Amino acid sequence: MQKFFFQCIILLMNKKLYVISGSSGVGKGTVLKGFLQRNPQFMLSISCTTRKPRPGEVDSVNYFFLSPEEFKDCIEKDKFLEWAEFAGNFYGTKKKYINQCLEEGKDIILEIDTKGALQVKKRMPEAVLIFICPPSYEALENRLRGRHTEDEQTIQKRLNEAKIELERAENFDYKIVNDDLEKAIIELENVIKKERDNA
Ligand code: ADP
Ligand code: 5GP
Repeated sequence: MQKFFFQCIILLMNKKLYVISGSSGVGKGTVLKGFLQRNPQFMLSISCTTRKPRPGEVDSVNYFFLSPEEFKDCIEKDKFLEWAEFAGNFYGTKKKYINQCLEEGKDIILEIDTKGALQVKKRMPEAVLIFICPPSYEALENRLRGRHTEDEQTIQKRLNEAKIELERAENFDYKIVNDDLEKAIIELENVIKKERDNA
């Protein structure tokens, strides 16, 4: 019933849901920033998380920052379209938020982990899954360390997750290698244009 409800909304409004995943530090945020600057008609979903804000991150802008209790309450009340634990924290996409965005008539982009992406695909098979790959494992590690946002223990957890995320990439509709940033942004634009033309 729920699945049907979401599919109806999307079909009625002829809007698509794009899901971007990839290992932590691969450059998802950077590629999306470039994409959204050139394509402001797209809306980037704001997720909920129990992770603490990084310096400069703002509640309700970068994430809805929740306590573990608040997050658990949302799970129990079935408020998430998808949710997952990632490297010791919880992350989730609120159904209500996605609904509101669709009502505003915008195409939505979710930037979520691979477990969440596969949950979305199950519920909404028309969602387009795009995986951002690093040019190499070394480049990924350098980027993650170079960002200076995580301590060593967290970096290790994220690098371990990276290997599992790469295996799940096989189930995605598209893969984009983020080596040259400009090329990666153009490739993302081409994928989305192709999907919109086919809609
Ligand atoms: P993610 O959102 O996937 O965790 P970020 O967008 O935060 O990753 O990028 C991680 C780091 O890698 C940042 O310091 C960013 O500037 C850098 N980065 C992103 N894309 C590239 C690229 N194509 N080449 C080199 N560095 C990049
Ligand atoms: P970060 O802590 O670096 O912001 O995000 C860590 C990971 O959580 C990234 O892979 C990011 O894509 C993922 N993530 C962010 N929001 C969500 C969400 O709502 N759901 C899921 N499943 N993953 C998310």
